[in-house]
Order: sequence, then C-alpha cells, then structure tokens
Amino acid sequence: MNNFSYIKVNDISDAVNELNGDIRNKIVAGGTNLNDLLKYFITKADKLVDINPVKDCNSIIRLDNGGIRLGALHTNADTAYDPIIEERYPLLSKAILAGASPQIRNMATNGGNLMQRTRCYYFYDINTPCNKRDPGSGCAAINGYNRIHAILGQSDNCIAVFPSDMCVALTALEAIVNISGPDGERVLPFADFHRLPGDTPNRDNNLVHGEVITSIDLPVKGFEKYYSYLKLRDRSSYSFALVSVATGLDIIEGVIKEARIALGGVAHKPWRVPEAEDFLKGKEPSRENFAASAELILEGAKGYEHNSFKIELAKRAIVRNCMMALNPKSQRPGAKPSL
Ligand SMILES: Cc1cc2nc3c(=O)[nH]c(=O)nc-3n(C[C@H](O)[C@H](O)[C@H](O)COP(=O)(O)OP(=O)(O)OC[C@H]3O[C@@H](n4cnc5c(N)ncnc54)[C@H](O)[C@@H]3O)c2cc1C
Ligand code: SF4
Repeated sequence: MNNFSYIKVNDISDAVNELNGDIRNKIVAGGTNLNDLLKYFITKADKLVDINPVKDCNSIIRLDNGGIRLGALHTNADTAYDPIIEERYPLLSKAILAGASPQIRNMATNGGNLMQRTRCYYFYDINTPCNKRDPGSGCAAINGYNRIHAILGQSDNCIAVFPSDMCVALTALEAIVNISGPDGERVLPFADFHRLPGDTPNRDNNLVHGEVITSIDLPVKGFEKYYSYLKLRDRSSYSFALVSVATGLDIIEGVIKEARIALGGVAHKPWRVPEAEDFLKGKEPSRENFAASAELILEGAKGYEHNSFKIELAKRAIVRNCMMALNPKSQRPGAKPSL
C-alpha cells in the first residue's frame, strides 16, 4: 500500500471538490474492495475521500412516482433486509444475499457494489500482464487459466467478468443510477452504467473521474409475484458466480406479458438480450419456451480453454431459474424445491 492522505466529508459537493476530477483521488465507502486493491498495489491513491458521514446517501426512500431510492451508502445488508425491498423487490433482496458473506454485506455499500472490480486472477497478480490494470501490457487470461472468464461481449484485450450479484438484479429491474460530479447531476440507466471491454478494458463503467454515485432508483415494477435469482458457483457460499441468472416475469392468465432475464458471471457487464425477452411475450411460461429464449441469449457466445462449459451451464441455468420464478415461495428457506 502506498502512502496517501485521508479526509472525511459531510456532503457530496465536498466529495466532488476533494476528488477534483483526479484519478489518484479515490472515494472510500465500505472499503471491502478498495482496501484489498490498495494493499496489493493493484491501485494507488494520493488521497482517500471517505464519504461515510454523508447522511443524504444513507437511506431508502419512497419516490413520488411510486419507485424506491436506494442510498449509495446504504449497506448491502440493510438494503436486502429492508421490509420494503423484501416485499416489493424480493429479486434484489435475494441477489444481494447470494453475494459475499454477512460480515462483508454489513460493510459493503450499494454504490461500492456497482464499482467493485473484476475478480480475474491475473488482475490481482501484479507480476502478470493485464490490460485492465496496466493498459497495453496484454491479457494473461486469454491463453492462461480462464475458468471464471467471459463467454459473451469479450474483446481481444480483456475477457474479464463483472462479479456483482446485486447488479444482475438491478439490470433486470431496470434501475437508474444517480450521479453527482463537477458538471452537476446526471442519471444513467443501469444498462448504460457498466461497459464492455473493447479497446479500453481499464474502464469498467461510464462514471467519469470525479463523479460520485449518490443513489440508485428502482422503478415501480418489482416482479414480486414471479421472480428468482440463481447463482451457480464452485462453493455454496463466499464465492463468486460462474453463472448467475435474475428472472422477473409478469404473467396474466397463463400468458407471459413481460419477461426480464439478466445474466451474471458471463460478461464484463450484466448481460441482457431484449430480443430473447420479447420472444417470450404472449407465450406460455413453459420449459420449451424458456429454452428457446436461452438459445437467443447465448447467441454468439464463445468459450476459451477452461470455460466453454459455461455456455451450456448458462442455458440450463436460465431454464431452471425461469421455472423457479413460477413458484418463488419454493425458494424460501426450508421450502421443498419445485423441480
Ligand atoms: C471475500 C469477498 C467476497 C465477495 N463476494 C461477493 C459476491 O459473491 N458477490 C458480490 O456481488 N460481491 C461480492 N464481493 C464484493 C463486495 O460486494 C464489494 O466489495 C462491495 O460491494 C464494495 O462496496 P464497498 O462499499 O465496500 O466499496 P469500497 O471498497 O469502499 O469501494 C469500491 C470502489 O467503489 C468506489 N466507490 C465506492 N462508493 C462509491 C460511490 N458512491 N461513488 C463512486 N465510487 C464509489 C471506490 O472508490 C472504489 O473504487 C465480495 C467481496 C469480498 C472481499
Ligand atoms: S481478462 Fe482482463 S482483467 Fe483479466 S488479465 Fe485479461 S485484461 Fe486483465
């Protein structure tokens, strides 16, 4: 860890001033990712700007339009267990609780979750080439051990995946990210927040240096009747997704009116294919239709030496999760599985 200065701020405008648009000045929230990145010299900071005292960003509030605003500093645990989230957005609650450990979720914040870095082994090993950590140095994963890497949306410069669970549900829910920066405030639809690697894998998302996430808005529609989050991983806890799926379905009189299906663990951003969701509209919620939709979602998928299994795994996970969404109560602790 290099030497840096540290300052606490009480409001967002002070945070923006302290950041001063400089990449070497960093926000710290829960510290669960940033501290590791600093300790292992993956990132360096001149100044840490601690936003924890900012009261405005630490709550969950009802919006006039019927939606819900999640403060960027509200913790992942408090968000998942909030009665409004449990009741109206159980998909989000379930996705958050599939991530990390209780201790980490108690510290991790909503804003930090969106900003967490990839878990590519080579990104964390400063002795190997990595275009994300050190642009232009190469990618050790493409011809290396790539079991956890991307099968969709990757480039010749980077095949890393974005590791969040929470963000997969936020993608399916079509959340909106509220941002403050030197040029004022702006909003980004969730689908436009994270990026594909392309030629600039060092950039994970479209936040500009000096900007701060203040909150995340959830639209009214929470898919509280038919939803499911499925996370497939090497260990059953404390492990990142090989493949995860968030499904929200709107079903009226046995026919799908709207479907949302987002994948995690497969690309540099949560992956959604609108054509595959449109395909389900007006159809029966059957295994065959979900399988056909899964084929559309995985169209163009490409595996590498150690991760080709993810293509079939993702297709099966989509079908299984969509079937589970038809009976969300079966997912509660102690309930018998419906399949
Ligand atoms: C062992 C371990 C296992 C984990 N497993 C999972 C898992 O299974 N699933 C999962 O989803 N996550 C997992 N995580 C990741 C965890 O969810 C993130 O570390 C956490 O959400 C980051 O939040 P934070 O508040 O601690 O961020 P910090 O570590 O404080 O910050 C992370 C980054 O976000 C930036 N940042 C923070 N807040 C803001 C803001 N408001 N505006 C702009 N930038 C900001 C910081 O500058 C930094 O770059 C795991 C983490 C660990 C350590
Ligand atoms: S996949 Fe991306 S993060 Fe991993 S080594 Fe290659 S460039 Fe770095």
